[in-house]
Amino acid sequence: MENYYQKDIETMSKEGLREIQNERLVKQVRHAYKNVPYYQKIMDEKGVSPDDIKSVDDLHKLPFLTKSDLRDAYPYGLLAKPLSECVRIQSTSGTTGKRVVVFYTQHDVDVWEQCCARAIMAVGGTKDDVCQVCYGYGLFTGGAGLHGGSHKVGSLTLPMSSGNTERQIQFMRDLGSTILCCTPSYAAYIGESLHEMGLSADDIKLKAGIFGAEPWTEEMRRDIEKTLGIKAYDIYGLTEMCGPGVSFECSAQTGMHINEDYFIPEIIDPDTGEVLPEGAKGELVFTTLDKEAFPLIRYRTRDICVLKREKCSCGRTLIKMTKPMGRSDDMLIIRGVNVFPSQIETVLLEQGYSPNYRIEVDRENNNDTLDIYVELNSEQFSDTVKEIAGKEKQLAAAMKTMLGINPKMHLVPPKSIARSEGKAVRVVDKRKLHD
Ligand code: ADP
Ligand code: ZN
Repeated sequence: MENYYQKDIETMSKEGLREIQNERLVKQVRHAYKNVPYYQKIMDEKGVSPDDIKSVDDLHKLPFLTKSDLRDAYPYGLLAKPLSECVRIQSTSGTTGKRVVVFYTQHDVDVWEQCCARAIMAVGGTKDDVCQVCYGYGLFTGGAGLHGGSHKVGSLTLPMSSGNTERQIQFMRDLGSTILCCTPSYAAYIGESLHEMGLSADDIKLKAGIFGAEPWTEEMRRDIEKTLGIKAYDIYGLTEMCGPGVSFECSAQTGMHINEDYFIPEIIDPDTGEVLPEGAKGELVFTTLDKEAFPLIRYRTRDICVLKREKCSCGRTLIKMTKPMGRSDDMLIIRGVNVFPSQIETVLLEQGYSPNYRIEVDRENNNDTLDIYVELNSEQFSDTVKEIAGKEKQLAAAMKTMLGINPKMHLVPPKSIARSEGKAVRVVDKRKLHD
């Protein structure tokens, strides 16, 4: 039996959902225009008024908003409610530059937590579960979002935050945690630590994990599922929209259902801004539908993915998005070739290596260099120097097939690459330092 938080919405007919979206969009645009001078300015410039927006069909008339608009508006420039009505501030992790701060009214917090509750129930969560939240707490939205969602479901919430991995495992065992929420890289680290402590999946009660906030591959999913003895589910979100819970995976594990009653997704060509048809790959754009403090209209996420509306075995009718396999600005251009870090991860895991790696890009004599450092486990490390050199050569060839360029591979000793407790930083682009 499929488990839902709000079955009526999650399984609603396409037409019913569209009606909700139409009604909310009209209101959201009016609210933004009336209360945020910046929206007035950009809509006036584009010659579009709130009266022109009568339904979702009119969405394309509205101007886009980018992260740099948000940075320029820092801190209060896009606020649509008096501060006295706001109850919370959160901030992006600043992965790609200056942080952005966002504001929430109590209603906004409730909506966000509801979205996370849907995600928890979609992985089978109930009030009988023990939900261990080891996303970071604080300004980062991961901890607060899943924590609030877990409360709404009625699960017993363990607000661990990230770090202190041995204590995480001890509590997980002592208190019988059944659902784990953290970044996929931290889940892999917890799995590794569990084994180092001489324990296995049989010593814990976990059944499911909700892992997101960073890109991860299917290979990594299988790895985590095996080491922790669980089903691993993806969750997506961004602070600008609310945080985690914008979309979430269900039992089908084939893409994430978008909470379309709160967010309208579009896919555009990142170069031209043209809206692409369903099924096309492009940049994901979101419009919030029910935000009081921080409404965002046609916000360009820079995440690249595909949208598909299909009958899902879970019964949900909400449209699905594929895993974003990196942002448009994560993409490295090396010797003129587009390289996504996720492609490198796929090759490594397929070839039986760990997800502990570091990618270094540099420039020597006007030529880009690509060095990939991959950690060996202790068994692999006991090979002879000659065997290791052979493996490096073999890996470089596999990379060449995937990427189209030849990297320099470095197989390094166990534990020599720093582990991540939050979002992993795996790429060091030294070219930027020279510029
Ligand atoms: P920052 O942009 O500073 O990292 P956030 O912490 O709000 O700020 O992160 C949001 C971004 O994280 C998304 O735009 C996306 O690139 C990435 N992200 C979040 N969840 C996932 C996921 N499940 N898979 C891939 N990327 C994700
Ligand atoms: Zn589904």
